[in-house]
Amino acid sequence: MVCRRCGATADLDGGVLSEQVAARAAETGFVPDHTQLVVWGLCGRCAAAAD
Ligand SMILES: [Zn+2]
Repeated sequence: MVCRRCGATADLDGGVLSEQVAARAAETGFVPDHTQLVVWGLCGRCAAAAD
């Protein structure tokens, strides 16, 4: 995740999503070779400051 105000980043816990991608890939025979998920928003500090 990337804060669009200050640029702070936080890793996503991709466990559930990764499992869903792997399960769907197995169902369809798709062979993913690259996954990129970027979530933009406000970090906790900026969200608090925005109020
Ligand atoms: Zn921020």
